[in-house]
Amino acid sequence: SLTIGIVGLPNVGKSTLFNALTKNDVLAANYPFATIEPNVGVVGVPDPRLDKLAEIFHSQRKLPATVDFVDIAGIVRGASEGEGLGNKFLAHIRESDAICQVIRAFKDENVVHVDGKVSPKDDIETINTELILADMQSVEKALPRLTKESRLQKEKAAVLAAVLDAQKILEEGRTLFSAGITAGTEQGKLLHELHLLTVKPFLYVFNVDEDELTDEAFKDEQRALVAPAEAIFLNAKIESELIELDDDEALELLQAMGQDEPGMATLGRVGFDTLGLQTYLTAGPKEARAWTIKKGATAPEAAGVIHTDFQKGFIKAEIVSFDDLVETGSVPEARAKGKARMEGKDYVMQDGDVVEFRFNV
Ligand code: GDP
Repeated sequence: SLTIGIVGLPNVGKSTLFNALTKNDVLAANYPFATIEPNVGVVGVPDPRLDKLAEIFHSQRKLPATVDFVDIAGIVRGASEGEGLGNKFLAHIRESDAICQVIRAFKDENVVHVDGKVSPKDDIETINTELILADMQSVEKALPRLTKESRLQKEKAAVLAAVLDAQKILEEGRTLFSAGITAGTEQGKLLHELHLLTVKPFLYVFNVDEDELTDEAFKDEQRALVAPAEAIFLNAKIESELIELDDDEALELLQAMGQDEPGMATLGRVGFDTLGLQTYLTAGPKEARAWTIKKGATAPEAAGVIHTDFQKGFIKAEIVSFDDLVETGSVPEARAKGKARMEGKDYVMQDGDVVEFRFNV
């Protein structure tokens, strides 16, 4: 499955956040036999539609989609120079499918900042500079080979052109992601063989003081720093306390802070979206469940997420949209009102599809 690597300077609250992530009981509660790597935190993607489905189908349990966050040791200035930890650090980021930067905004005299002052803007620049420098090295290493190959192989000329374009962007001090180049774009595909870091989608978690959680002007300022990446604002210390509370108490504490959901839930939702994922839904008396697929997945691909045999023997998918299901109250009623569709193997799954697959075994 896809993973999001958590990076950030030392002392910004990564461990605090990660502890809250791992204490989050979404996996332990639903998959008691799952083995979880110690450096992986699994977050549920909140989906109120599951509550409604469980009601309609009298499901015994609800299984949300999840996102895996991987704790990557603290980045330091000079990581791109490849000394010891630096190398290992970059290798871990390379294995991640998205990069989540934790940025310190909270002020606390007792917590030392590595650069002596709290400045989200400077910290973002420090981290991005290391990632950009690492990419520039990959580019420089590949260029002589690509130049040679492009003389003999026509298709390599396009790769070379894309790499030279990328080099320009990096030299301007910009990440490829911020220039609109991601793995799915034409440019991104041409760059694939270089395994660059800054084509990965970025996501920013600002670890803020409590009063900043509702400070819209402050938040807009931070959002502008990281656009087009998403920004999430939370207080890691409070998040780790919320985990210990029961739902009612947690809700009360959240409301007192002007929040409608825990930062953890926001992180799950935004992280999932950043990875380019979406869900479809299934429901029955056993469970109401959100299944994870890539955006743009077809019906047989979606079936394959449940079981590879479902994909191989795929015949049709019977689909009712969540809204139609709620309106009609049941699948038979939806059928009677012409709201159930039979879709074939070319159908592209839509968000909110409630599905039952028909397949040969
Ligand atoms: P890491 O080095 O990035 O993993 O940072 P830690 O999670 O170890 O946090 C460093 C210090 O900052 C610890 O003493 C934490 O208790 C403290 N800390 C973390 N988050 C917050 C926060 O939101 N507010 C305050 N005041 N302190 C925090």
